[in-house]
Amino acid sequence: MFSRLNTIKQKIIAVSMVSTSSAILLATLAFAYEYINTLHDDLERRIEIETAALAQNISASLVFDDTDAAREILSSFSVDEAVLAATVRDTDKQVFVEYYASKLGEEGRALGEQGIAFISRKIVLDKEELGEVTVLITHEQLNRKIQRVFGLAALIFALAVVTAFIISSRLQRAISQPILSLSNLANLIAAHSNYSSRVDIHSRDEIGELAKAFNHMLEQIEHRDSHLEKQVRQRTAELEKLAEEFRHRAFHDALTGLPNRAQLNERFSSFTSHARRTKTSVGLLLLDLDNFKTINDTLGHDFGDELLKLIAHRVQAVIRGEDIVSRVGGDEFVIMVQDIDSDQDLNAIADNVLEVLRDDIVLLNQRIKSSVSIGGALYPKDGGDLLTLKRNADLAMYSAKEAGKNQYRLFNQNMTDSSTQRLIVQNDLQTAIERGELEIYYQPKINLRTGLANGSEALIRWHHPQEGFLNPNEFIPFAEENGLILPMDHFVIRSVCYQIALWKQKGNTSLPVAINLSGLHFQSEEILRVLRGALKDSGIASHLLEVELTEAFLIEDPDRALSILKKIRRLGIKVNLDDFGTGYSSLSYLRSLPIDIVKLDKSFIDRICHDPQDKAITQGIITLARDLKLGIVAEGVELQEQIDLLTAMGCETVQGYFYKPPCPAPEFESWLETFNQQVVIDR
Ligand code: C2E
Ligand code: CA
Ligand code: CA
Repeated sequence: MFSRLNTIKQKIIAVSMVSTSSAILLATLAFAYEYINTLHDDLERRIEIETAALAQNISASLVFDDTDAAREILSSFSVDEAVLAATVRDTDKQVFVEYYASKLGEEGRALGEQGIAFISRKIVLDKEELGEVTVLITHEQLNRKIQRVFGLAALIFALAVVTAFIISSRLQRAISQPILSLSNLANLIAAHSNYSSRVDIHSRDEIGELAKAFNHMLEQIEHRDSHLEKQVRQRTAELEKLAEEFRHRAFHDALTGLPNRAQLNERFSSFTSHARRTKTSVGLLLLDLDNFKTINDTLGHDFGDELLKLIAHRVQAVIRGEDIVSRVGGDEFVIMVQDIDSDQDLNAIADNVLEVLRDDIVLLNQRIKSSVSIGGALYPKDGGDLLTLKRNADLAMYSAKEAGKNQYRLFNQNMTDSSTQRLIVQNDLQTAIERGELEIYYQPKINLRTGLANGSEALIRWHHPQEGFLNPNEFIPFAEENGLILPMDHFVIRSVCYQIALWKQKGNTSLPVAINLSGLHFQSEEILRVLRGALKDSGIASHLLEVELTEAFLIEDPDRALSILKKIRRLGIKVNLDDFGTGYSSLSYLRSLPIDIVKLDKSFIDRICHDPQDKAITQGIITLARDLKLGIVAEGVELQEQIDLLTAMGCETVQGYFYKPPCPAPEFESWLETFNQQVVIDR
């Protein structure tokens, strides 16, 4: 029954009502019982006294056989309503006189009524028995009294119950009110998360204790809450600082602080539009230190780094504020200048640079002679885009080196002839696929938590008939220049799908393989057709294929590129953002790009053990990636200490020579088998 009552208030009232009502009921019943008994006793005692007196008075009448006197005496019963009839008999049991109450009437004298009792008394005179008087009494009057008593008792009971109800409803508030205010406050806190509220304590009973404990709990939550909030604020500030550093890093060279390749690319378009407006040219100078490798090898990397910083400083000193000097490679710098009217203008700047770098350099107690070779090219004359301009400045720089170093050359068309080597590669690439000279190597990715290989990356190799074994960076840049990268990557996709199907057939492995996609694929939907076709023809599940791409895929037409990328993901193919942390990399890419996995560039991994800033940034990227539910792969892991650090940082997956350099498929297959078995045995 109580379980059907919903509120404490109802329950308290119910409990007190049930207990008080039963107490009152019992008390009333006991009282009524006692009262009725007394009434009974009183009646009988009265009649007995009356009968005794009558027996005494009537004895004389019996002796003298005076019935009239006897009847007279007997009629004295008429004042007692309880007496119905009285009979006096002599010793022979013969009726001497009789009395009937007038209310009985003639037929009532049959005395068949209920509730009748007899009282008899011997009539004795001087110890001689003369007869007996018998009195018949009725309880009718008594019963009426009892009925009245019950009526009254019921009334008292009802009144008592109502009073008890009123009192308990008032008193229950003392208990339910504090509980209600406690629960109201709890609801309020839950709705608004305002932990500064406290409940008022009015009593020292259990409810008071509960309220006290509740307040204490609130205090602790409030404390924790503010602590957490502080932590979040701090963390956000740290991340923002990191992001700021990252933005700076994205456009600056870490060593010299000069603008980097990404900034150069970005500034190029504003330089060229200025040139078009003012009908001037943009000059590009490519600087390469002549003997940097030797300096590095003999005097050490620290010296090399200091030298680069000093050169950066000197070059910057001879360049106007509106022009830019950037470091684009190990010992390569590019100077981009505007408002060039003739070749002579650029030559003059190049001469100035040669001049300031010709002086002896004293560094770390060492005096050295350093020199640079400079190649120059002009926009728009020598190229309409940065890539062509740089390539031509590069050719000019090589020709300066060939001419004896420490000098400057401006590009001219004849220089292209010296790049025949490149042309050979470019021409041969066209037929390489048909001739079966390309081979795909596989490099495993290892999950740091399980210690098992959880995927691999496909990397292309070229067995060139004359040039020998070629690594991708010896031919991919040209393949990208002339678009041959497209059929080459298509070939890789098909071969990898076929290989996966083969492995599956042999029951060997069902780990996903990631293929590298050039940014050029993201200008047309053809890549989608190729991916779909390869999946269909090989019959493999799409989750076994992944793609890797760098942010460069966004350069041409970001909207189109993104739409293609989304369609690739819709096929069920996971997307890796490759080389993250170089070039254009910005933390915001992680938030906005439709990708699944981030691949931290090797250059970061190389430095995490020694450079606290790189370590902090790497940690920041890993944390951010995890927050965004992205997978994370660290590339180019070569040392145990890098693995230890990456594990501690919460990095999920690593890839690198430490475990296995890329290798042909059969070698990968047997390596994988022993590696995974070894991990299982070691456990
Ligand atoms: P990537 O995508 O960043 O590939 C990782 C490169 O790092 C590979 O060079 C790999 O051999 C190398 N590597 C892995 N672990 C280590 C390590 O611990 N230490 C060192 N020093 N290097 C490590 P690889 O194979 O020479 O490839 C170079 C680049 O060529 C790749 O860089 C990728 O961008 C491109 N590439 C390779 N295959 C293909 C392909 O099939 N298609 C396209 N479009 N690009 C490809
Ligand atoms: Ca890659
Ligand atoms: Ca990479």
